[in-house]
Amino acid sequence: MAIQAPKGTTDLLPRESRIWDHFKRTAFGVFSRYGYEPIETPIFEQTELFVRGIGEATDVVSKEMFSTITGENLKTLLGGGHVKSNSRFSLRPEGTASVVRAVAQHNLVTPGGVPAKLMYAGPMFRAENVQKGRQRQFNQVGIECLGSVDPAIDAEAIIMLMRFYHKIGLKPETLRLLINSMGCEKCRPAYRDAVAHFLLDHESELCEECVSRAHTNPLRAFDCKKENCREVMKNAPLIIDALCEECKDHYAAVKGYLDEAGIAYIEDPTLVRGLDYYTRTVFEVQVVEGMGAQNAIGGGGRYDKLMEEVGGNPTPGLGFALGFERCILALEAQGFQFDEARVLECYVACVDPAVKPQAFMLVQRLRDAGFATDMDHQGKSLKAQFKVAGKQHVPYVFVLGPDELAAGSVTCRNMDAHDEVTLNLEKLTKALEQAALTDEPTALGDVITQSS
Ligand code: AMP
Repeated sequence: MAIQAPKGTTDLLPRESRIWDHFKRTAFGVFSRYGYEPIETPIFEQTELFVRGIGEATDVVSKEMFSTITGENLKTLLGGGHVKSNSRFSLRPEGTASVVRAVAQHNLVTPGGVPAKLMYAGPMFRAENVQKGRQRQFNQVGIECLGSVDPAIDAEAIIMLMRFYHKIGLKPETLRLLINSMGCEKCRPAYRDAVAHFLLDHESELCEECVSRAHTNPLRAFDCKKENCREVMKNAPLIIDALCEECKDHYAAVKGYLDEAGIAYIEDPTLVRGLDYYTRTVFEVQVVEGMGAQNAIGGGGRYDKLMEEVGGNPTPGLGFALGFERCILALEAQGFQFDEARVLECYVACVDPAVKPQAFMLVQRLRDAGFATDMDHQGKSLKAQFKVAGKQHVPYVFVLGPDELAAGSVTCRNMDAHDEVTLNLEKLTKALEQAALTDEPTALGDVITQSS
């Protein structure tokens, strides 16, 4: 059998690739209005970064990382030898730890300096159980803001995220924004212990995994999908009742800004999110209907201790990531149609193979003048060439034949208007040469008018 792409990965074919490009450009367009600048970090990092940053007990780190070592080290390891921890690498399961590492490494936040506002887009890797909306390689767009504890930054990021969904075409009434506060290093440990005790008190009613979570990551029990566990967790202590005064004030201020901005949200005191690094504000955007369990299309929160975890100077931070594939599924479920892209602006059709050299040169001139152009290279009939151009939604077809050449002309068919004009070939050549010399893009319509 022919080799297939690995399970849980998808090829972004030209159509999907164009949509991904549009998605990134739309997101970066929105985020840059809030002062965010692009950053690209490596696709793999030292495994240690994710272990320390995301947390060893999280599902992502304990079960889902694709980790690797180089060939030489693999031999050493298989031979029973020891491999240094900095020789173990993992494909990034998310973007935050890498960006925070880069900010620390390059000193992008200086004491008293302005916050670093960074945005990224690219593939992430998690060895998950594959299902619709849950892949092993998926694309995320995200932002990170480092260097401010101001609750306005949290609210601003949430507003920006909701603006993006609107801009990409997701109807606001189809989404719900959940928010919560996870507390800080002062109030969370006691709460964590309270949840751990609660889990152990209800050991007999919970699944094995939730019982083991009591010792490793008790808050994750709120995310268990099993009906029994969900019932039990309804009576678990809530973080909202355990927040310290500072966390309460911070949370109230975030909500105040969201209210001012007219952003609707649902307070969900059980929203804990899967990664260990969150402190205070957390949020998640879900699609209300039709996406099953994979209904989260984006989320994030504050992580005021992460920088220290990865060895940098204490620096507060906040970020979010949104999933490309799930957003597209949500858009498609709403009946959203992406415009069929017009890749080619013109097509040069040959009436007879004898004029191919001249047609070939016209194609080059059109391209040099800035117009995406193509022609037939399979010896197709004129009718078939028009069919190809029509299928590709090409707006203009230039037709060149022996008669046209003899008359020094070329026919230009406007495929949308279904009409034709005869152009003077010499004038067209001159107009195209002129267009090739200017930096400003020229409209094809102007070139055609000048050549008729
Ligand atoms: P997270 O990094 O887990 O907070 O995820 C942020 C967003 O990325 C989610 O809301 C999803 O839209 C998307 N996402 C996370 N994991 C996957 C996955 N395995 N497959 C597809 N999308 C994902």
